[in-house]
Amino acid sequence: MTAAHQIKMTTKVKSRTDTSQVSVLIVDDDLINLLILEKMLKNMDLNIVKAGSGQEALDLSDKHDFALVLMDAQMPGLDGFETSKQIRAVHKNKDLPIIIVSAVSKTKEFILKGYESGAVDYLLKPIDQFQLKSKVTVFCKLFEQKRLLETRNSELSQLNLQLSKEISKRKKAEQELRFQVIRDPLTGLFNRRYLEESLEREISKAKRQKISLALIMLDADHFKNFNDTYGHLAGDFVLKHLSDLLIKNSRREDIACRYGGEEFVLVLPGTGPVVARRRAEDLRIIVDQGDRIQYRKKILPNITVSLGIALLPYHGSSAVELITAADKALYQAKGNGRNQVVLAEFENSQIVPEKHTEENAPSA
Ligand SMILES: [Mg+2]
Repeated sequence: MTAAHQIKMTTKVKSRTDTSQVSVLIVDDDLINLLILEKMLKNMDLNIVKAGSGQEALDLSDKHDFALVLMDAQMPGLDGFETSKQIRAVHKNKDLPIIIVSAVSKTKEFILKGYESGAVDYLLKPIDQFQLKSKVTVFCKLFEQKRLLETRNSELSQLNLQLSKEISKRKKAEQELRFQVIRDPLTGLFNRRYLEESLEREISKAKRQKISLALIMLDADHFKNFNDTYGHLAGDFVLKHLSDLLIKNSRREDIACRYGGEEFVLVLPGTGPVVARRRAEDLRIIVDQGDRIQYRKKILPNITVSLGIALLPYHGSSAVELITAADKALYQAKGNGRNQVVLAEFENSQIVPEKHTEENAPSA
């Protein structure tokens, strides 16, 4: 075959492989053989692509997806076996079926050589048209089924991806909703609703484990005056500042809540009166002696807090009783001049607080 022949064939191929028809590559160094093969396959609704050399077959198989290759065994330069080997070495062609077409008799060695190079079948020259068409039909059907499966797989993958995205979007929305239900939007602390729920739970747990529990109620002093003087936005800023301090000075097991307005509650499981008082006093000092709060380039006046403490089991055995007792202690702290801690009075002075709960509680 002349170089002119080869160039002409390749050009023809490129325009034809754009169709949705199944493509079959036929490779032979003899143009007459190529034309005979093409004629035999004429009525099969296939896109027949011709290559006049091993190299040309390699180039075409790189660029296009063929359902089948009919490969002449004897060719100058790259013969059919070497060409087959190199075609199948490319990942996308690793399963491409290749039928070796040969005039050489079907000896054992010959067949082995073909299989080693990746061939899946043989045809002997002169080619029997009926045999050729049957084989081509089978491989083209397989190819179409594979293509269909691939399409469905990719559609399924797309669907899966969409579903995963949808699920994670919903999970995120659900988490957001759950967060909103139990959190105070301004400070991000737990809200009163969550406190009421979790306090009962913590009380039951403490009773079961026979340990004490402290409830500290904290209130910003003169906050109404502050809001009236500096505005509610500055007031919100201070509340956010206070809640940040509460979080920063909490242990993992503590529950910090915004109870309402400028009032906060800290639940300290496993904490007795000594540690509770120390923790409350630490908070008071941190607020009183901490850096002055700067809001919109303005330094705000010093903020102080009053704190009331109530304990399980000394000041009540339910959430309501503990909150009421802590509130009363807080009221007393306000009455005594503010910026101080008051521990609710023990009704029976004989009661000695449990010691073991104090030892384990770290200083905040
Ligand atoms: Mg030949």
